[in-house]
Amino acid sequence: MTEWRTKMGRKPRSGPEFFWPGLLLLLPVAVLATLGAFSLRQDRLMLENEARERAGAFAQAQARRLWDRLSVPPGGGSSSPPEPTEGSAFRPPELRVSAAGELLFPPAWPPVPEPRVLDVTQLNAAQASLWARLEAAQAGLTAATHAEGDGRAFLATQPPVAFQAAAHLRLGRALAKTNPALAAREFQTVVAHFSELTGETGLPLLPLAQLGVIETMPSVAPTNGAIAFLALATQLASNAVVQPAVLSPWILSRLMEEETRRCGKAERVSFWQTAWAQAENHRRVFRSVSRAWSGVAATNGSHHGWPPVLWFRHAPGAASPPPGQWLVLARRRLEDQSTWYIYRDPAQWGALLRELISAEKALPHYWGVFYTVGGRTFTGGQSGRLNRDGDGAPAAAALPRDLLGTASLEAEPGLAPVVVSVALIDPAAFYARQRQRVFWFGALIAASAGVALLGVFTTRSALRRQRRLYQMQTDFVSSVTHELRAPIGAVRLLAENLKDGKVPAPAEQRRFHDYIVQECGRLAAMIENALNLARIEQGREEYRFEPADAAALVADTVRLLAPAAREKNATLRVAPPLVEAGDFTAVLDAAAIRRVLVNLIDNAIKHAPADTEVTVSLAFVDRAGGRALRFTVADRGPGIPKADHERIFERFYRRGSELRRETQGVGIGLSIVKHIVDAHQGVIRVESELGKGSRFVVELPASPAP
Ligand code: ADP
Repeated sequence: MTEWRTKMGRKPRSGPEFFWPGLLLLLPVAVLATLGAFSLRQDRLMLENEARERAGAFAQAQARRLWDRLSVPPGGGSSSPPEPTEGSAFRPPELRVSAAGELLFPPAWPPVPEPRVLDVTQLNAAQASLWARLEAAQAGLTAATHAEGDGRAFLATQPPVAFQAAAHLRLGRALAKTNPALAAREFQTVVAHFSELTGETGLPLLPLAQLGVIETMPSVAPTNGAIAFLALATQLASNAVVQPAVLSPWILSRLMEEETRRCGKAERVSFWQTAWAQAENHRRVFRSVSRAWSGVAATNGSHHGWPPVLWFRHAPGAASPPPGQWLVLARRRLEDQSTWYIYRDPAQWGALLRELISAEKALPHYWGVFYTVGGRTFTGGQSGRLNRDGDGAPAAAALPRDLLGTASLEAEPGLAPVVVSVALIDPAAFYARQRQRVFWFGALIAASAGVALLGVFTTRSALRRQRRLYQMQTDFVSSVTHELRAPIGAVRLLAENLKDGKVPAPAEQRRFHDYIVQECGRLAAMIENALNLARIEQGREEYRFEPADAAALVADTVRLLAPAAREKNATLRVAPPLVEAGDFTAVLDAAAIRRVLVNLIDNAIKHAPADTEVTVSLAFVDRAGGRALRFTVADRGPGIPKADHERIFERFYRRGSELRRETQGVGIGLSIVKHIVDAHQGVIRVESELGKGSRFVVELPASPAP
């Protein structure tokens, strides 16, 4: 039998052949892993998309809320500013500013009037002397009664109109204490005939005269008198507010005093007093914003109009506005290009922001909300990073770059845009669950890949084992045929020679007979071995353990194999001399152990060169588990390389190639030996190196002697 070779001349390897089955085994795992990775990625994208959608919707709602709250006047009311009316329901709305940046509402004060001294040269001599006396009376230098006469005389001379008005006023003032009814008439004359004129001080006469009328009204008035007072006082107060002037605050405070004096409380006038205070506030804010904007505009190079939104610092005034950054923003544009503005002090802005922040509670904690108004961005409360200024207003912050969602609201083109942005402030928390999924899925894939690989490798090695066994079986068949053919041929030849009488000498005939017997014995042993292996393989082999004399067994076996040794000119000896078993005895299947010894000694004689020595020994030794019976068979043969120390005990395994092997045998002897030793719960090992002979050691457990 030639060595098994492929057509290419190389020994076959299981690798390439196993490529396709291996691939089929690994493919599902690879497909699963790819699909898994893809779906995890989709998962992540979906998560991000959902977050973006939700963030966008939230930002939109929050922007709407922000704008709605911003555009409602602080005290509530409608979101569109009322037109200022001149009726008693007048309440100053927010600031109205022209396209050029001038204050349209509340109206500004006219500049402080310049005093215009009456030109006395317009009077004749008599008029001048009466005028002088009238002035003296007003200064308190002469009695009021004189003043009345002088005044009437002066008016009778038909002086110029300005002098007439002044004379009536002076008369009124002079008589106010002594004769209020008369004084009131004088003031009413001024109201009726000289309402358009301005007095010496440059102030309009009308409010002064009206105030005079009010002050000279009877103190304990009949009911209709009180009604007349209230009507007049309301008119005067509303005029003071709607047409503001230097006198307005003074008139209002005088009216407050009068109403309190007459009616017990200043209800009507206090409404206007409040309106005045509000209007004054607006005017102060206007001045602050104008100053702040002119600074900004100067650096921008633009000077026209106001911006839609601006943060400014309010100049500290009498009313001491809250410090910090104020906000002014356009609320509505009118056809004439003027704009209504509202403003928020830091406390109001802070309250608004807190209201927005309380709406963030429904959001996941890893989202941060940012509010941008007029170029300033404020952090929401989500991240717990709501900084505050010294005055409690939320501080400005920088807007992160990666935003999940953002909504910008501009109620009308050109009006203040408010922007609400939602950002991921804690990506680790956001992706935590996704990462966990990736981890578990990865672990699953890794585990299944591991199992699949394990499967591939075990299948591959099983395949290799199978192939090797097949190879060895083939070798076995060829060895057996070979081993049978030679002795049978020789025996047949010898027997034919004897039958034909070709061997006449009796000594020669005996030698022939011996040879035939020996060959037949060997054949029988070989067949016995083969049958033995078959029985073992099929599990039919039975052992009968009984106490045995191991020394006698060894001596017997050596005697049995002496002719074979002699044939090879080898010395077969037992050394050292067989020992006494002592307190121990061997319990074994003697026939089986004989087969062990026969196989080992036969191998030693067979593989060793001629004229060699084979030593058999027997001893009782101490082992880890107790006493043991140790057989050794040592030869000075070619030795066995370390790599084959295990494999020689496999069935059908023979070292070297079938072609080059010189020794007889079929490769089953040692496998039978191992089976028998295993059945005795013993161990067998070989101690050998190439070129240094071999020593086979068998150890069987020994039992204490009965
Ligand atoms: P066989 O002797 O019939 O070939 P065995 O199972 O008895 O089969 O032995 C297996 C192989 O172990 C042999 O082919 C041989 O190569 C090797 N072997 C066994 N005993 C010895 C020995 N004493 N010296 C060298 N090689 C040995």
